[in-house]
Amino acid sequence: MAHGAPLVVYGERNHLYDFGDPHPFTPRRFGPGMDLLRELGATDFLAPEPVADAVLRTVHQRHYVDLVRMLSDYPEAAADSGFDDKDTPPFYDMHEAAAGVVGGTVAALDRILAGEVAHAFHPGGGLHHAMPGRAGGFCVYNDLAISIRRARDAGHRVLYVDVDAHHGDGVELISWDDPLVQTISIHETGLTLFPGTGFLEDRGGHEADGSAVNIPMEPGTSDASWLDAVQRVVPAVAAAFKPTLLVTAQGADGHRLDPLSNLSLSTRAFDATSRLLDEIAHRHTEGRWLATGAGGYDVYRVVPRSWALVWLAMAHRDVPAAIPETWRARWADEAARRGQAPLPVAFLDDPTATPGEPADVAARNRATVDAALAHTLDVLAQRHG
Ligand SMILES: [Zn+2]
Repeated sequence: MAHGAPLVVYGERNHLYDFGDPHPFTPRRFGPGMDLLRELGATDFLAPEPVADAVLRTVHQRHYVDLVRMLSDYPEAAADSGFDDKDTPPFYDMHEAAAGVVGGTVAALDRILAGEVAHAFHPGGGLHHAMPGRAGGFCVYNDLAISIRRARDAGHRVLYVDVDAHHGDGVELISWDDPLVQTISIHETGLTLFPGTGFLEDRGGHEADGSAVNIPMEPGTSDASWLDAVQRVVPAVAAAFKPTLLVTAQGADGHRLDPLSNLSLSTRAFDATSRLLDEIAHRHTEGRWLATGAGGYDVYRVVPRSWALVWLAMAHRDVPAAIPETWRARWADEAARRGQAPLPVAFLDDPTATPGEPADVAARNRATVDAALAHTLDVLAQRHG
């Protein structure tokens, strides 16, 4: 298995997936985000290309792909299937842009399965809310579910870990009855955040009890509770399930500065999570690890650091003490115009600057993790020996 620099998927096509200003899921994030990866030494990006409809249809319904194609020519046409004029509005050439996102994640997967790289990262991937016949939550086609299906059909046992602030509902639903795909989603509870699903009792379909693990966290959750969940759940489930491939959605939207979630994480949680995922990959999957960027809406202060921390963990490099001054100088004005000044000085947030979480929040989170583990480990032990 090849080691060395992780493969990074990025190209001009990533900028085509664009709901238009002022939509929060903006391709403006690729400016500061990819620039910071380059500062750290990332080179030789793999440019995504759209996949054929046949690949989309391994997960999506034919009528839905046809609808997306129609709306790509006539975005103003009346449509439902999850499209609306706010969160997920149709846009010109949406089909090609969304098929390009899928193509990037699938290409990264293929390089991993061919043994050319161990770790690959597609910052523009991670559209985890897309359903077989429905768009939602800024997601048109589900690049993660399509890639997971492809790996599974190639004989892999896939562990999917979703640490975006939002429940990974689309990926979970598509693999709901599949005992060869184990999903873990750690997210802000659906009682307070989109998509309103992902509760403790949601554990997989009839044929696959325990193959979905949901850890709904309280609003106000900070690093201590979050890392308690990640560190107790992910290694234990991985050890019981015995995956041969790790796929992750590493959204940056749980950060306390993010405008869309009510979580209160720091970049220290992102770093510790990425380091743990790297360990899992080397312990269980011969290093095979496909990561995606998923959500994240504080485009200058948070998203670039989150991507950098994924990349550094994949490159097995320590986190530098400071963010390069040249990067800060290039993006300071644009960040200020977007209300995100000043830019951070360090990759890792100052722990004394983050408020701790209330005792009742910590206690409820701990009880949630205990309950999820009690059920899941039991079932997985029976099924996988
Ligand atoms: Zn590694």
